[in-house]
Amino acid sequence: PYTIEKVKELVREYPGFPSEGILFRDIFPIFHHPEAVECLINHFVELIKALNKQVDVIVGLDARGFLFGPLIAIKLGVSFVPVRKRGKLPGQLVSVTYMKEYGPDVFEMQADGIKAGQNVVIVDDLLATGGSCKAAEDLVAQMKGNVILNTFVISLVGLEGDKKLKAPVYALIKC
Ligand code: 5GP
Repeated sequence: PYTIEKVKELVREYPGFPSEGILFRDIFPIFHHPEAVECLINHFVELIKALNKQVDVIVGLDARGFLFGPLIAIKLGVSFVPVRKRGKLPGQLVSVTYMKEYGPDVFEMQADGIKAGQNVVIVDDLLATGGSCKAAEDLVAQMKGNVILNTFVISLVGLEGDKKLKAPVYALIKC
């Protein structure tokens, strides 16, 4: 069985990906080991339970938030709702424009995903500048939900992404 410290060691670093000067952190090796995935998911589930607050919805960010979000939601017995890049979701949507490194991008959610007053935890693999997560916080706010926690496997603390966010941030690995 895996300890959470062993799970952390599975994250791999790739200098120069996807472009020069970037050190990419790859979380996919965790998924080579089902017991490591289980350990990681339990870690997040215990953390969320320890808030001692009602959680209604787990929101996962496109695309690696979809790996963790549904597994956490199943264990908590709550719903999972995706945030996706523009053009991927059908039906009535809420949307937000946010700035990425090379210009604006759009995030969307299905409008029936969150009801007014529901408590939400946002999940993604990595927090960098915080632009993506802030956009997700804005989408939840448009639906009058409350983000009570933003959770990540990794946070690049030097980029101070947490300062853009309204809700508290938890990251398993800070680097
Ligand atoms: P931000 O909007 O905070 O600047 O960037 C976070 C988003 O970019 C996340 O959705 C995350 O998946 C992706 N991202 C940026 N850098 C990395 C990286 O080094 N590793 C991984 N796995 N994702 C990254």
